[in-house]
Amino acid sequence: MTSIDAIVVGSGPNGMAAAVTLARAGLSVTVYERASAIGGGARTAELTLPGFLHDVCSAVHPMALASPFFRAFGLSDRVPMVVPELSYAQPLDGGRSGLAYRDIDRTAAELGVDGPAWKRLFGPLAARANDLAESTGSTMLRVPEHPILLARFGLRMLEQGSPDWNTRFREDLAPALFTGVLAHAIRRLPSLSSAAAGLVLATHAHAKGWPIPVGGSQSIITAMADDLIAHGGRIETDASIETLAQLPSSRAVLLDTTPRAFLAMAGAAVPARYARTMKRFHYGSAVAKVDFALSGPVPWTDPRLAETATLHVGGTRAEVAAGEREVAAGRHPESPYVLVSQPSAFDSTRAPEGKHVLWAYTHVPRNSTVDRTEAMIRQIERFAPGFRDLILASASRTSVDVARYNPNYIGGDIASGDTDLVQLLRRPTFIDPWKTAVPGVYLASSSTAPGPGVHGLAGWNAAKSALRHEFGITTPPRLAP
Ligand SMILES: Cc1cc2nc3c(=O)[nH]c(=O)nc-3n(C[C@H](O)[C@H](O)[C@H](O)COP(=O)(O)OP(=O)(O)OC[C@H]3O[C@@H](n4cnc5c(N)ncnc54)[C@H](O)[C@@H]3O)c2cc1C
Repeated sequence: MTSIDAIVVGSGPNGMAAAVTLARAGLSVTVYERASAIGGGARTAELTLPGFLHDVCSAVHPMALASPFFRAFGLSDRVPMVVPELSYAQPLDGGRSGLAYRDIDRTAAELGVDGPAWKRLFGPLAARANDLAESTGSTMLRVPEHPILLARFGLRMLEQGSPDWNTRFREDLAPALFTGVLAHAIRRLPSLSSAAAGLVLATHAHAKGWPIPVGGSQSIITAMADDLIAHGGRIETDASIETLAQLPSSRAVLLDTTPRAFLAMAGAAVPARYARTMKRFHYGSAVAKVDFALSGPVPWTDPRLAETATLHVGGTRAEVAAGEREVAAGRHPESPYVLVSQPSAFDSTRAPEGKHVLWAYTHVPRNSTVDRTEAMIRQIERFAPGFRDLILASASRTSVDVARYNPNYIGGDIASGDTDLVQLLRRPTFIDPWKTAVPGVYLASSSTAPGPGVHGLAGWNAAKSALRHEFGITTPPRLAP
């Protein structure tokens, strides 16, 4: 008799999704987390001044309402979410902005001559957003449930991921607006894998929106921890696992870690061929982040920008692409692409009355030790003159600091593995990518399909694979509250 059925190492959104699924299947589950707080990339903390609550990593959750795992878990019934009417925006010089509303018709109307082309690009996908989330929420190499939808998606991916990406639009607003989303993939633009990620994110912006959880990203983890504990699970923090031998005996071990950490933990138990595949798994460019405590709202030149939680700040399509090219070549661009979120404009729990928090990060080469605070302030000032004067305090992390905070972000790569086309398909293997070649050991992190983001899908898929192979449970458990 083993004392524990299943062990999960790491309490990020995927680790917690795995733990919840296993516990709901009636198994005894223990989660080991190296940090003193659970949550991985979904933690919220006072990083600057007392009373200012900052999302340490993720802030905006395009998958919170769309992820098949979160839908099964009933996340929106457990955590209050604010869904802004404006999903995201892209300011340009001269006070103009591209605005992506949840309402695709309004978006198209404000994009003028390019409006109909925008609608043709995203309309058919947004109309079937749940099916798209299911089709892209697992390994890509399987029999598709929705082949026609996937073909439509593939054609759009080919167009927006190729040198033809400028043929659809005639003016500069619509391509700039979409490039802000494409650049989330932290890759040279255009590229097929950026197009895939961008199309998924932009589709959900017009379907269920890009929500922010009240109380911050930590609220999502708290909801999963509450469910786990209510179903008999245990969590141990300050428990860094260096080797599998350190763990109590169990029938399954699910690692919310990178393949690199798996190799270190499993050591000689890993068959040589599988070890070679894991060593081939490679890591991408990185981020540097700054959190600001502000004395007031950001004075955007275009006042409509106060109404969106997410902004992509970096100018036109050509400018953002040039910046991303610099990063891919190992340099720090003069005019960087900056992802900005202003959650306190929607959630009063984040800052003292009248004050605000601002979350911002930019792309940098892996293992960069450059503090990008000044470059980010300059870029925000370009579209919001006077921003600098509102800063009460800031907290900066270089990409090396990001990696120190969480070893899953190797060199500051927040996707826990390059998101090139090969690793979109083979993440980190083609078939059942969660099951490793070490008996009973599974990978459950965003290094596995379907990749980065707070959606819990890698952990859910890993848990379903472990339930099937180790416990003979082929019907996934009900997860609803
Ligand atoms: C700055 C930043 C901004 C981001 N913004 C967004 C966003 O706005 N929206 C979005 O959807 N996604 C965002 N992401 C990405 C998102 O946070 C990740 O994709 C997601 O957290 C991955 O979840 P995970 O469970 O796979 O791993 P993680 O969240 O990285 O969790 C892994 C956990 O495992 C623990 N661990 C690792 N090794 C060990 C060990 N040996 N022993 C014990 N514990 C261990 C770690 O401490 C960590 O808690 C962002 C990430 C960063 C860093």
